Amino acid sequence: MGDTIFGKIIRREIPADIVYENDDVLGFRDLNPQAPVHVLFVPKKPLPTLNDAQPDDAELLGKLLIAAAGYAKQEGLAEQGYRTVINCNEHGGQTVFHLHVHLLAGRRFTWPPG
Ligand code: IMP
Repeated sequence: MGDTIFGKIIRREIPADIVYENDDVLGFRDLNPQAPVHVLFVPKKPLPTLNDAQPDDAELLGKLLIAAAGYAKQEGLAEQGYRTVINCNEHGGQTVFHLHVHLLAGRRFTWPPG
């Protein structure tokens, strides 16, 4: 399952505030939220970074985004809007090497990001 903190959360070895789950994807609240709503969507299949995604993973990547968007709709966040982010490697600011989509909502975001 991948030896990262997110793998441990998927295997229920450490606690997390899980808000979403299906066969392929787990969603849980970020420990250090950067917005009123900050949820991480992770594939249960561990891919370290977006660079590791192969053509065969296209469906899984789609499921990750559909999960994030579905959660946003379910929580009434879709109308006002939200931001989804995938950080990749050092310059992208990635710190946990288990691919994840950040869903940030509940405030207005600026562009470009820092
Ligand atoms: P990254 O910088 O895109 O890799 O994002 C990693 C995110 O994981 C950061 O926003 C962290 O706050 C978050 N994080 C790290 N450890 C945990 C945890 O144990 N539970 C929930 N979120 C975590």
